[in-house]
Amino acid sequence: MCGIIGYIGKNKAVPYLIRGLEHLEYRGYDSSGIAVSQGGEVITVKASGRISDLKSKLAGIELTAKCGIGHTRWATHGEPDDINSHPHSSMSGLFTVVHNGIIENYLPLKKELLGQGFTFKSSTDTEVIANLLEKYYEGDVLSALSKCRRVLEGSYALCIICRDFPDTLYGVRKGSPLHCALKRTESFFASDTVALLPYTREIFTLGEGETAVMKKGKITFYGSDGAETEKKAERVNLPEQTADKGDFPHFMLKEIYEQPQVLRKTLSALVRDGELLPELSELKKSFFALQKICFVGCGSAYHAGLAGKILMERIGNITCVAETASEFRYGNTPLDGKTLCIFISQSGETADTLAALMKAKEKKAKTLSVINVRGSTMAGESDNVIYTEAGTEIAVATTKAYTAQLMALYLFALCFAHERWQIKRSERDRLLSQLSQLPEKVQSIIDRRDRAELFSSLFDRRQEGWFIGRGSDYASAMEGSLKMKEISYINTGAYPAGELKHGTISLLERGTPVVALCCEERLFPKTFANIKEVKARGARVLILAQKKSSQALTDEENVFLLPDTEDEFAGLLQAVALQLISYFTALKRGCDIDKPKNLAKSVTVE
Ligand code: GLU
Repeated sequence: MCGIIGYIGKNKAVPYLIRGLEHLEYRGYDSSGIAVSQGGEVITVKASGRISDLKSKLAGIELTAKCGIGHTRWATHGEPDDINSHPHSSMSGLFTVVHNGIIENYLPLKKELLGQGFTFKSSTDTEVIANLLEKYYEGDVLSALSKCRRVLEGSYALCIICRDFPDTLYGVRKGSPLHCALKRTESFFASDTVALLPYTREIFTLGEGETAVMKKGKITFYGSDGAETEKKAERVNLPEQTADKGDFPHFMLKEIYEQPQVLRKTLSALVRDGELLPELSELKKSFFALQKICFVGCGSAYHAGLAGKILMERIGNITCVAETASEFRYGNTPLDGKTLCIFISQSGETADTLAALMKAKEKKAKTLSVINVRGSTMAGESDNVIYTEAGTEIAVATTKAYTAQLMALYLFALCFAHERWQIKRSERDRLLSQLSQLPEKVQSIIDRRDRAELFSSLFDRRQEGWFIGRGSDYASAMEGSLKMKEISYINTGAYPAGELKHGTISLLERGTPVVALCCEERLFPKTFANIKEVKARGARVLILAQKKSSQALTDEENVFLLPDTEDEFAGLLQAVALQLISYFTALKRGCDIDKPKNLAKSVTVE
């Protein structure tokens, strides 16, 4: 989770560290800190709150050091206060570390270290690493690190300063990402390439268990066996993230507006000369032999998977399951060579989804990942990858990456169903043409943002609300509810519309907002009856339906009509309308829209 940065070069380190942390702040922002090697000492400054709080603390301190590390935290162990903020130093100050991840066996290690006379200041798992390094150190940092690695369980990306070597930084990773870069006489560490792109596009990505020793303008790599290895930089072709909102008040709104363009780009990258997903030619050969498809993701990516499952079962005629990665990784879903597992992750670093992918590989299932970030760990581990073209997403609540995932999964379902002779070429082409019209339909929803703003008044003074739907509308309900919870802190639930009467309806109070998703035409009368049930009990209902249903809705008060499309593709249009409604609700409630409390963008801890 969160972010790590390291700099060593000819210039003062602090401005580079702060700039890096600002690029990474969207990944974790409950506290931050830096440490620099200066005059034989390691000086640490840290603060709870935002990077701006750290900057204010640094304002009066003269730091001329040219080597340092920085961290923006998403607390896992210990409150997000000044003391628990990173960097953490060992008892005597010999080692100072920043850490992304979780040390799962930190308690027994800490107990042992306490018994050996080591002292601790914080309640983090990270401080154990600093003290362990000090315990194992006999003049050689690499050997201390390798001993340390043998006892640490869990996940970590680490950047380390040893006071004895003020001109050197050490980096090591297991389970959490870490990258390095060189620019003439300057060297950098970062947990996300976004922070390196202002300096170079040639990025070195550390592999599992690898270590990097960094000096001014020089990096030496060591494999997990401790032997020096050659590593080639890879060119990252992402546009530099300028962290510029342009004329938009929030990144989230900017990213909502980017969706038509993102969807067009994703489509044209995945359909070439009339062929769907040409890069999957090997996987396509196995389509006839497959017996099951598992869709796996976390949060919104799981909802995209759920929508993918519903469409795939309908047109692909194959058994599908959709599961959250955190359950799948420890669950007992039968997997074998006749199973295709599809993993969905914006960052390609989501710890739970990565672990689920590794499990599927172990069980010899075929793997396909739908990922937005090239060069990510999951992209490297998967047999097959579909890249979405959402660009960098900064707002923590996903918008454009989610709809790009939907587009990719819709296309995959089409491709699968056609290749497996479940739909004819003419039907495939008809559906494809519907997909190609989605970007302009999304634009037409964005153009009616005033409707979304109007409907947000149903929610803005409430503490709870519901989202209901059937079939693919249920997947949309899940995503709509999550978006509302994430950014406006309203306790919303998503339910299959037919399920209410089995319990949930007892919660209903006069004025409870209920968003009813009614784009499944064949299920419209059923959902409509459920709308009547909740209205009879005092709910205030907002209906999202396709234009073709407008006749049946003339007596309804709050109706957001969406452009007509295939019922199964309407989830993408619903998502955009629901994003806007959540956005305006959160705005009216004065919430921190781009950085909701307790959340982080890319969840690289379990
Ligand atoms: N587990 C560490 C902590 O709670 C690091 C968390 C992070 O990755 O930000 O301090």
